[in-house]
Amino acid sequence: LQRTDVAVVGGGIIGTTAALELQRRGYAVTIVEPNEAGAGTAGGSAGYLAWDDIFPIPNPSVIADLPRMLLDKHGPLVIKPSYLPHMMGWGVRFLLAARPSAVRRAIDALSRLNGNAEESLVALAERAGAQRYLVREAALHVSRKAESLEAAAAQIPTLAAHGIVAEILDRRALLAQEPALSTTVAGAIAIQGAYRCTNPGAFGAALADHFRHRSGTVTQARATAIAPDATSWRVRTSAGDILANRIVVAAGVWSAPLLRGLGYRVPLQSARGYHLMLPYPQVRLDRLIHFNEPHFVATPMEDGLRLAGTVEFAGVDAPPNEYRADMLFDVAREYLPALRRDGAARWMGHRPSLPDSLPIIASLRRAPGVVAAIGHERRGLTESGITARCVADLVEGKTPPVDLTPFRIERFGNL
Ligand SMILES: Cc1cc2nc3c(=O)[nH]c(=O)nc-3n(C[C@H](O)[C@H](O)[C@H](O)COP(=O)(O)OP(=O)(O)OC[C@H]3O[C@@H](n4cnc5c(N)ncnc54)[C@H](O)[C@@H]3O)c2cc1C
Repeated sequence: LQRTDVAVVGGGIIGTTAALELQRRGYAVTIVEPNEAGAGTAGGSAGYLAWDDIFPIPNPSVIADLPRMLLDKHGPLVIKPSYLPHMMGWGVRFLLAARPSAVRRAIDALSRLNGNAEESLVALAERAGAQRYLVREAALHVSRKAESLEAAAAQIPTLAAHGIVAEILDRRALLAQEPALSTTVAGAIAIQGAYRCTNPGAFGAALADHFRHRSGTVTQARATAIAPDATSWRVRTSAGDILANRIVVAAGVWSAPLLRGLGYRVPLQSARGYHLMLPYPQVRLDRLIHFNEPHFVATPMEDGLRLAGTVEFAGVDAPPNEYRADMLFDVAREYLPALRRDGAARWMGHRPSLPDSLPIIASLRRAPGVVAAIGHERRGLTESGITARCVADLVEGKTPPVDLTPFRIERFGNL
């Protein structure tokens, strides 16, 4: 039997950063993680610290486009037909979250969280000696069609109202910055003050190493249940029980069964995403580029060019669909005609996704002493630092730097 002040269940980017912040505040912390701590989904991510990503996925135009998107088997969003029945509850909530008033509230909530994200993550990375993996530079959102560029430009005032500086680059200005792009592009929006992570896997590993070097414990095991135990909590794991005064649940898409045992049903789905790592792309990009038609990201990294994106709902256990990774090359070639795929490596990961695009960052009223930090969808790396600060404040019973009302677990009602 192990004893600790705080047990963090799940050692992805959210669990690892929360563990580091709690350790900094003087707690003995144990991460329970069946695989490598610090690896998780973020290790395969696009490495975009997307402070500008304040727009929830559900919105009226996505709903209008949904039937067309779902009929396109090769499109950026697919639902495996046999998985559809499992998406019903999530889908109804997604529709409700697309109401204009709900979208406005979500933008406000995300902009407040992201407004504190840079400072928190950069400070955490510096303390762990991992800041060398973070490069501050403009990120480009490139469009091929004039209408798509106009739609992206229409978001600039909303971004500005939330403190994010963006400017329009016409085709000439864009090609001057990134000459590898096809001349068929219409232009781009340049987001100032963004960050690119040059090696998300090494970044997470450096954070986990720092945690261990400062006497943090990593128990390589799977948590199977969390239960009250006299005055503390007992985490049952595949390697024995752990007694802890406080628990943080940060097991990404795998959190739902653990929370169910504590009396909460959360509409958590895996929005599966893919990457294709190109070690010899034969084209050079100097910045991270977000492409708009279809949505995907190309990130220059230490070990090549990473193409990442696509959304697939097929459940957690279905095997990866290699085609979803390969199609990233085909769509990228439309923008980068000289791109080569020699030595390409495919990867699939699970974005923990709640229907309103907002995470849960909350103390659990039905389980006093347990904090949940899940559902960061496509922004987990971005929001990890600020989430860690909020989680540590909740553990300590302090007021977090961000109003967490929009991120409470009760917002989905009784499922
Ligand atoms: C293709 C793709 C691109 C992305 N690009 C970006 C990006 O550019 N920027 C960005 O900010 N975000 C990005 N994301 C999203 C980001 O990766 C996620 O939001 C983030 O990794 C979620 O972190 P997490 O710690 O909540 O979950 P995870 O990383 O999934 O970690 C959960 C951990 O819990 C462990 N676990 C599972 N079951 C148990 C159990 N029973 N007991 C204990 N531990 C358990 C798992 O092994 C895992 O390590 C991307 C995601 C994908 C798929």
